[in-house]
Amino acid sequence: MLVAAENELNVFESAEARFEIAARKLELEDGLYRYLKYPNKEITVYVPVALDNGHLEVFIGYRVLHSAVRGPGKGGIRFAPNVTLDEVRALAAWMTWKSAVVNIPFGGAKGGVICDPSKLSKTELERVTRRYTAELSEWLGPERDIPAPDIGTNDQIMAWVMDTYSMHVRQATTAVVTGKPLDLGGSQGRREATGRGLMICADRAVEKFRMKRADSRVIVQGFGNVGSQASLLMHEAGYKIIGVADVHGGLYNEKGFDIPKLYDWVYIQHRPLPEFPDGGEKTNPQEILFRPCEILIPAATENQITSENAHRLSCRILCEGANGPTTAQADPVVEKKGIFVIPDILGNAGGVTVSYFEWVQDRQGFFWRESEVNERLTDVMQLSFDQVINYAEAHKVDNRIAAYILAIDRVTRALKLRGFYA
Ligand code: NAD
Repeated sequence: MLVAAENELNVFESAEARFEIAARKLELEDGLYRYLKYPNKEITVYVPVALDNGHLEVFIGYRVLHSAVRGPGKGGIRFAPNVTLDEVRALAAWMTWKSAVVNIPFGGAKGGVICDPSKLSKTELERVTRRYTAELSEWLGPERDIPAPDIGTNDQIMAWVMDTYSMHVRQATTAVVTGKPLDLGGSQGRREATGRGLMICADRAVEKFRMKRADSRVIVQGFGNVGSQASLLMHEAGYKIIGVADVHGGLYNEKGFDIPKLYDWVYIQHRPLPEFPDGGEKTNPQEILFRPCEILIPAATENQITSENAHRLSCRILCEGANGPTTAQADPVVEKKGIFVIPDILGNAGGVTVSYFEWVQDRQGFFWRESEVNERLTDVMQLSFDQVINYAEAHKVDNRIAAYILAIDRVTRALKLRGFYA
């Protein structure tokens, strides 16, 4: 059953289509359906920033709080030229479902600023971040809404968010934001967390199908935070990474890549990924998705797998690192091909899980060893994976809809207990 999104590439419609299928399966009452379909709040801010050359620019920024039913809003800030309010809305809703899938006490939120961080100097980036945070200061807070990094933002930007918020509330408040540097209340293991979560899910699927890591060929699209860390960890664990790509191009090598060397090439030597000397065959960044492999990890951006190209997939397991890499219209094609899907709201939930651990540690003022963080993350991811798979079997739906059903069920239970304030 598919509720068609009118515009396949509109991520908000894509997210809504899945929500709708899951809501119908759950026989969600009309009122609750409407309550959960729309965000709680949407804020648009106009961010005036003096550029280094003296010109004044005004950037448009958004923050959407989708739900605070199970706890404060939680979700990243994206800096990218193609940010739209619809995209931020979809990402905020996904955060609600994701936090519920892994059963952590957060709601869902997301933010974004329309800008190209690669064209801004460090000082310009700092001013954009500080003014955006200042405009939102009364909406953010450790008990209200807690940002984190996403595409185009990093730990330094989170440090500026923390400092700006702290100046406004007149006290150092580390727990207002996660993904911070370790010296500023960040958590051990946060940088690797999303990639590690993906590997934990892949491991579980490999076990389920009685496959072996060493015989599992992996392709990763995107070599940013998520893709590079997933590649490094999976390489170390014995998987064979045969395809990699970033926005500049892809590389395919049947023999497998030396990922630590590639990481050094891209992040230490700052050289273009497609020029990697032991690189194998060059492809374009999207074609890499259709090469044969056991595990495909799209970890770049939205709408990579669509109704136009899904029939070309040649993987056994689709483990989604990016948010929304597969459109709603592509879902039935992927299902028909018998591909085992680890949907984004489960697969990439390692990031928000360790963000939750960071928030807990900041509030406790007591920090955990990396092994403790990883152990707790493993427990959460394995349990959530098993719950989603059990739900899929019990409700006779695919894994993605099962994850939505599990999440909607948890949020509606909390909502009913809280009741509706007049
Ligand atoms: P990032 O900015 O660090 O990296 C993005 C990577 O994707 C870069 O290597 C970039 O070159 C590549 N890329 C961009 N467009 C591409 C294209 N069209 N084809 C191929 N490669 C392309 O971002 P990130 O933090 O790694 O996030 C990646 C995805 O994972 C996003 O969808 C994000 O929302 C999602 N996500 C991130 C986290 C996190 O903890 N960072 C957590 C959950 C989900």
